[in-house]
Amino acid sequence: MSIPNSIPAAFDLQLAYQHQRRKTFGYAQRRDVLRRLSAEIRAREPQIIAALQADFGKPASETILSEILVVQQDIKHTLRHLRRWMRPRRVVPTLIGFGTSARVEYQARGQCLIIAPWNYPFNLAFGPLVSCIAAGNSAIVKPSEMTPATSALIGEIVAAVFPPELVTVIEGGIPESTELLALPFDHIFFTGSPAVGQIVMAAAAKTLASVTLELGGKSPTIIGPDADIKQAAKWVAFGKFSNGGQTCIAPDHLYVHETRRAEFITELGARIASAYADGPTSPHLARMVNAAHADRVWGLVQDARAKGAALDVDGMRAGDAIGPTVLGGITPDMDIDGAEIFGPVLPIMGYSDIDTVIAQITARPKPLALYIFAQDKALVRRVLDQTSSGGVGVNLTMAQYSHNNLPFGGVNNSGIGNAHGMYGFRAFSHERAVLRNRFSLIPLIFPPYTGRVRRLIGVVRRVLG
Ligand code: NAD
Repeated sequence: MSIPNSIPAAFDLQLAYQHQRRKTFGYAQRRDVLRRLSAEIRAREPQIIAALQADFGKPASETILSEILVVQQDIKHTLRHLRRWMRPRRVVPTLIGFGTSARVEYQARGQCLIIAPWNYPFNLAFGPLVSCIAAGNSAIVKPSEMTPATSALIGEIVAAVFPPELVTVIEGGIPESTELLALPFDHIFFTGSPAVGQIVMAAAAKTLASVTLELGGKSPTIIGPDADIKQAAKWVAFGKFSNGGQTCIAPDHLYVHETRRAEFITELGARIASAYADGPTSPHLARMVNAAHADRVWGLVQDARAKGAALDVDGMRAGDAIGPTVLGGITPDMDIDGAEIFGPVLPIMGYSDIDTVIAQITARPKPLALYIFAQDKALVRRVLDQTSSGGVGVNLTMAQYSHNNLPFGGVNNSGIGNAHGMYGFRAFSHERAVLRNRFSLIPLIFPPYTGRVRRLIGVVRRVLG
């Protein structure tokens, strides 16, 4: 079948296929197509690395780790567990359900739309697609216009693996996205900014499509008074500067206990010097995705400097590349204190009372990630109990993303719903309640409400409390 040449045609083709999909797209077919996707990705690894290099200078090692390997692991994990995930789940009988059998069946939602961002353009298009296919759906995938080389390659890979009635890629930006969002999809899986998340949810409200929103925000990091500073500096540098800082779960800003502040900044500086010796031109550092984004991030640094921030590590700029930068003396009037930074710039604030840090975190929208470095279990517990975030990393950063058995998602401003592994499968599944009658006693209390029936209702009331 040829690839449809318009958005309505792509949608209609998948719509016409829904009946067939329900009948034929079972466990074996899903496994088969996921295996073919894995093989296609393996065969095209050099192209994937080249595309991300072209789009924003992503180092090959980072592409292998955070784009290719993550998706391959997702596929492998899904293939290993899919049969179990698909299996209907028996639920514990209840008194009212006496004489019935109850189970939850996982049914494909149907026609899905996946909108991906540019920052991990490969991973965040194929990751959701793996879950979508595992759950038995069809999908239209809209990658980001900001990473054109990767988006084109995503289109090629999808066309090589999937028939268009099952999966199609629509490339483009806001106009294409808007046109897609007006169509009556059954489920929309969106990854991107909270601002566009609101647009997506408003569009979904029109057709009452269910949504999974994987959004962003300002993820805080806390360094406690007893933290292992060397380890903390290593993890923070990894989390903050991987992908050029353009990571939804990157530490956005950092609170360090005053007693350890100088030591932490020294360690972080040493870490930056050894990992990214060439500053903005380091081959180990991705550049900003485009000039506008580089201007925005650099503008945050300039604004903070003009308002009195200290430049603890001067990252410098070379074209669209910005070197790892560390700022101190941050005040609330600085732009960097308000926006998601999404670049290799880390503002560091000192604190002496954890309650003030908790108060500052809870005063902001709930972040996607929160990191705490501390040995004191009571301190960690206190931060866990008194804050909210999509996920938490204790004495590490980022790795919570790649744990296949953990849900990945935000809360309110940082997202709605979860992705990854079984959670991704469920995001793309309708949990359908199925109750079968075997010898239910409920008909005994059907009308007419004679004296005998009323007495029985009285008994039922007493038994059920
Ligand atoms: P974005 O919201 O600007 O764009 C995401 C997608 O939405 C793109 O495909 C884009 O074409 C489309 N889009 C943009 N404006 C639109 C509009 N007005 N109407 C309809 N569609 C529109 O996000 P981005 O800049 O690509 O990515 C960065 C953001 O994504 C950050 O906030 C980051 O934290 C977040 N993010 C979240 C996750 C996660 O898993 N939670 C992962 C990566 C990025």
